[in-house]
Amino acid sequence: MARERLYLFDTTLRDGAQTNGVDFTLADKLAIAHMLDDLGIDYVEGGYPGANPTDTELFAEDRDLRTTFTAFGMTRRPGRSASNDPGLAMLLDARADAICFVAKSWDYHVRVALETTDEENIASIRDSVRAAKARGKEVLLDCEHFFDGYKANPQFALACARAAYDEGARWVVLCDTNGGTLPHEVEEIVAEVCKVVPGDHVGIHAHNDTEQAVANSFAAVRAGARQIQGTLNGLGERCGNANLVSIIPTLKLKKEYADAFDIGVSDAGLHRLAQVSHALDERLNRAPDRHAPYVGESAFATKAGIHASAIMKDPATYEHVTPESVGNRRRVLVSEQAGASNVMAELERIGISADRGDPRVARLLEQVKERQTIGYAYEAADASFELLARRALGTVPNYFDVTQFDVNVEQRNNAVGERVTVTMAVVKVKVGEENMISAAEGNGPVNALDRALRKDLGRYQKYIEGLKLTDYRVRILNAGTEAVTRVLIESEDEGGEHWTTVGVSPNIIDASFQALMDSIVYKLVKSGAPV
Ligand SMILES: [Zn+2]
Repeated sequence: MARERLYLFDTTLRDGAQTNGVDFTLADKLAIAHMLDDLGIDYVEGGYPGANPTDTELFAEDRDLRTTFTAFGMTRRPGRSASNDPGLAMLLDARADAICFVAKSWDYHVRVALETTDEENIASIRDSVRAAKARGKEVLLDCEHFFDGYKANPQFALACARAAYDEGARWVVLCDTNGGTLPHEVEEIVAEVCKVVPGDHVGIHAHNDTEQAVANSFAAVRAGARQIQGTLNGLGERCGNANLVSIIPTLKLKKEYADAFDIGVSDAGLHRLAQVSHALDERLNRAPDRHAPYVGESAFATKAGIHASAIMKDPATYEHVTPESVGNRRRVLVSEQAGASNVMAELERIGISADRGDPRVARLLEQVKERQTIGYAYEAADASFELLARRALGTVPNYFDVTQFDVNVEQRNNAVGERVTVTMAVVKVKVGEENMISAAEGNGPVNALDRALRKDLGRYQKYIEGLKLTDYRVRILNAGTEAVTRVLIESEDEGGEHWTTVGVSPNIIDASFQALMDSIVYKLVKSGAPV
């Protein structure tokens, strides 16, 4: 049986821009649009030309994208003609391939919010769709509050949808604007709509207020809808929109959908999905959600010893899809319950071959357990674990020694009498027979130490040039009788690879120093720096 085409519509740049704390610049919007285009998303909604300078500028030029770049805006205002509405004119003039109009489809909103009649609302939909068609645009109509409107007055809600379709709108999109509709209701209502508007002209726009936006999107598809609207990482106001990063792998990897539908995202696109999801977080300066389905760091992580040993024998025992299919990887956490299986699995992943009976492996396991009891957390610090393992097996060279360091924090009045805090670090490093001293100021002791340490590593400097710290987390733990500090440092290199290192000490500077050293040494090992 031939597969049907299912279309994906991304609204990260419009509805996703409503997320608390998200503020896209023009450069952000262009970069994200290209990312979505490369992924194979059919429609990218860029924003609301005329609503703010960024969106107006975004739609002022051509963008060289394959996707159908879509402008969003309102239908003509009640009581005006389509040719005498400045908002509509801006939308029609925008350089967009498609226009997505938003219109009321709940009679209560028409009366109370719009203060007009049902007939005028439908006339406004018809006129706006006709005007956009006349300008050669593909047209979509977002029916706001469609599901609540349908429950209150099904005839009116259906009449709004039908009016747009009759005038030639390519898509009639059913929006669950408040996000409170449940999957079985979505399925029933969409099935009714598909009797009036053919399903291959019906879209779903779900919000996540009951954490069922993804489920609601699939319920609509089962009932006949053939367009799904959503955002990357489920961005969106309140609890967010339907998460395309969860929807795409389900469509491509779950038999029920994969056998029935083709989508614009290729297998190669799917392999890059985790990367795309993390690139968006990076741009928004947010830590990725570790527990995100498919792409999160924990999505394929196993902690308990028995599971780990089964996963080693056959990953399918505890995985619903392969991590590689979505660009993720399997993680067997080396935790307090660590068994030899976890350690063996991690060694294999790192690419170290060791025999299960090797006494060095037993010693490594002992070392991991000892260190966990004093506060080290290797399940969160894969790079520190790798170094520990490589050291236990004797494969980490001694690149350099830090023979001494000194960190000074001073608060004083400056020349104009202001109170300032000045931090300075001095580090003495020995590389081979060469002794070096570096000093650096920083906005705090750890920052100053990091800068001094990375300022001059002699012949190793070129390997760490692209290294930067992306996250620094501190926790105070109670281990035994005294409080200790655990520092986790996340680093990134020029190739976009991330790793985390850990340090533990009663002294925060010492703990930070350990984590910084591990990060640098890990980078040297990874780069194959010669001894
Ligand atoms: Zn929305």
